[in-house]
Amino acid sequence: MISDKSPIHYNLAAFNKSASKLSQCPEDVGAEVAFAGRSNAGKSSAINTLTTNSKLARTSKTPGRTQLINFFDLNIEGLRIVDLPGYGYAKVPMAMKEHWVKHLDAYLQQRQCLRGVVLVMDIRHPMKEFDEMMVNWCEETGMPLHVLLTKADKLKKGPAKSSLLKVKKLLKERLGDAVSVQMFSALKKDGVDQLRARIDDWLLAEEPEEHQEEAGDESPASEEQ
Ligand code: GDP
Repeated sequence: MISDKSPIHYNLAAFNKSASKLSQCPEDVGAEVAFAGRSNAGKSSAINTLTTNSKLARTSKTPGRTQLINFFDLNIEGLRIVDLPGYGYAKVPMAMKEHWVKHLDAYLQQRQCLRGVVLVMDIRHPMKEFDEMMVNWCEETGMPLHVLLTKADKLKKGPAKSSLLKVKKLLKERLGDAVSVQMFSALKKDGVDQLRARIDDWLLAEEPEEHQEEAGDESPASEEQ
């Protein structure tokens, strides 16, 4: 069952725009949470379930948009969820992969309003190469990470719990309090409240101090170039 006590009404999320590079992203103000994952991990289904809106993820799956960063506005001005391109289609040419990695990297490194990353992994196949890369990046930058071990309905309770504990232990050793891990099932709608609570925490928190200072800092226009 999904309860809705949050001021964020995820069901009202609406497609804003797609970007193939940083300069095309919405203005870097407000706060956003990005969803990442290997292709087929279940990222679109997780976003669908979070927003109870199957049209949203379809937007990201539209041919031509799968390699783009897709932005969705929430009902509170300036708050967004972001669907990062799925990684790992074997058929994607190398040059495209390089383009993708370059722009994902730029987004992750430079986006000031990014508050946290939700990394979606198939509970049966966690911590693949791409996941390692994202975890490393969070470790290096101190970006908060929430791991969704999805398709939990595909495992019996025991193996599912054991996968959760294993991934949690591994990641806690590396990221400490900056990481949280949960089971999820889009099919059964399990874990939605926990996911929403984590995103609420990130998006509704006070703006970090350094950003507030930056906002008040009136540097001359010439220095911005
Ligand atoms: P994406 O490429 O990461 O966006 O993955 P999708 O959300 O398109 O999911 C890939 C496949 O896994 C689809 O066939 C989904 O129906 C299936 N899937 C996604 N989430 C779940 C889940 O929680 N349980 C089950 N049983 N199947 C799922």
